[in-house]
Amino acid sequence: MVMDYAAIEKDVANLPVTPNMPDYEALCGSWSWDAIRAELARPDGLVNQAYECIDRHALGASRDKDAMIWEATDGSIERYTFEGMRKQSNRFAGVLKGLGVQKADRVFFFADRIPELYFAIFGTLKTGAIAAPLFSAFGPVPVAERVRRADGIGIVTTLRLLPKIEAIRDACPSIKWVMVIDRNGDPVAGQNLDYQQLMAASSDEFAIERTGSEDWSIMHFTSGTTGLPKGAAHVHEAVTGHYATGKYVLDLHPDDIYWCTADPGWVTGTSYGIFAPWSNGVTQVIYEGGFGSAKWFEIIQRHKVTVWYTAPTAIRMLMKAGTAIPQRFDTSSLRYCMSVGEPLNPEGVIWGQEAFGLAFHDNWWQTETGAIMIANYPCLPIRPGSMGKPFPGIEAAIIDDEFHEITEPMREGQLAVKHPWPSMMRTYWNDKERYDSRFKGEWYITGDRAKRDADGYFWFIGRDDDVINTAGHLVGPFEVESALIEHPAVAEAGVIGKPDPVAMEIVKAFVSLKDGYEPTEALRRELIGHARARLGPGVAPREIDFLPTLPKTRSGKIMRRLLKARELGLPEGDTSTLED
Ligand code: ATP
Ligand code: MG
Repeated sequence: MVMDYAAIEKDVANLPVTPNMPDYEALCGSWSWDAIRAELARPDGLVNQAYECIDRHALGASRDKDAMIWEATDGSIERYTFEGMRKQSNRFAGVLKGLGVQKADRVFFFADRIPELYFAIFGTLKTGAIAAPLFSAFGPVPVAERVRRADGIGIVTTLRLLPKIEAIRDACPSIKWVMVIDRNGDPVAGQNLDYQQLMAASSDEFAIERTGSEDWSIMHFTSGTTGLPKGAAHVHEAVTGHYATGKYVLDLHPDDIYWCTADPGWVTGTSYGIFAPWSNGVTQVIYEGGFGSAKWFEIIQRHKVTVWYTAPTAIRMLMKAGTAIPQRFDTSSLRYCMSVGEPLNPEGVIWGQEAFGLAFHDNWWQTETGAIMIANYPCLPIRPGSMGKPFPGIEAAIIDDEFHEITEPMREGQLAVKHPWPSMMRTYWNDKERYDSRFKGEWYITGDRAKRDADGYFWFIGRDDDVINTAGHLVGPFEVESALIEHPAVAEAGVIGKPDPVAMEIVKAFVSLKDGYEPTEALRRELIGHARARLGPGVAPREIDFLPTLPKTRSGKIMRRLLKARELGLPEGDTSTLED
């Protein structure tokens, strides 16, 4: 079972760097969000995410420190200091002002992962407008759908992506302008605005809009794993949560070189690829390209990355490629690694130890929560397969179907978080009803199921919609998937409940294999046998199908609802975030 793995103990006194939180219980006991707020600048009681991330450092001792080390897909490297980013974001804010952009207007970003994207997002926040990033691999239809749902007034894009915007422009009547970034510096043709030209004519100085805690800042659409993506809107106060979790979960220290592999089109790529590291004044690496096993270790080696935040799907791909690859590189700069986005199978947690001597620390949160809620920390033992313990200042609980807390250890229920907290979404854009439905009394209902052990570690079971009811008991897909992944032939597994006249549902698994394994009948029987030995016959999959790869969101999450729809021949629902 998932819980069978030995805990990974920590010798806190002898870690290479003393954690910002050396004692979890002590920090929980003394926690104060106001004390965190006092560590941020908050001039005149105002708060602006761009100011806290950039100007606060640019106007102080870190003025000339590198904020961003950007590596392009062609291998070229550019560096930007906090002061450089302050000026660039001021220029962009001036550009938007010149276009008449008002507080709370929605400005969309549909761009490659280039430095200008970061300048422009900060510039937007400085005007008080809402930055709404979209993942650059979307096709035109999902872009149009999101822009329409939020009545976007403008889109910032790149030359490469412009055709997709041209294709939908007429379908989005709220759009007043499209601005194109061409890194080659050639003039932008036609009716579109030219980023380079406008920036060149703008000023390095800008009077930041007077945004308060509850003013809108960023809007993210959820990943679409369980259905139609929802536009979760956040406020400037969220930076309090980003800063605090950056300090105590990411454990960022002034001389760290941090790397988050997520794209800013998803919330991890902004909360932890923009706001947490820069509100902590840390240098971060941004790589323009996507996944590549050798490439990623090369980046860690070249830039001497110390803290690394990635995702289970990437870790499983690295595992598939094998430990020989990391061992070709010097990864000795790394001191701390984390994962988020999906449950991290225990095999993934411990693989890091085999491959480069460091286990992955899993943590849990959602687009809606805005920041990490439950985590493994440098100062606490890791229980592989557990999401860890609630962040200090956050109260998480397991609740029953009547929304009462279950205090008894190891009882499954809905995972809930006591509201409010600083980085909590403040609405689903244009869908208040759905937003309200997520709150029951003092609890925010996450839509996930979990259990808590006697020591306070939380264990993920599955999405509420994905939990399987077989012969009278509930089975979480994660546990079955984790058992399958332990088998040397298995690269990925997705588990669903398939309707059955006798058992209500039976457990069915879809499996993709590692290179060198063939999908034979003998292997199928062997996997069923392996799962039965690990999980018992009531929980082990009754059926296993082999697939070359599993359907995933573009952010890398297994889409169990699609596996199920395809199995049952039902409509696939919203597939806008399905990977190609
Ligand atoms: P949608 O809400 O559109 O279906 P989504 O829930 O996948 O998509 P996100 O907000 O990106 O959108 O993801 C949050 C969800 O991801 C969590 O509710 C949880 O189900 C899953 N998740 C994230 N991190 C973890 C983790 N460490 N362990 C288990 N599950 C996780
Ligand atoms: Mg969700």
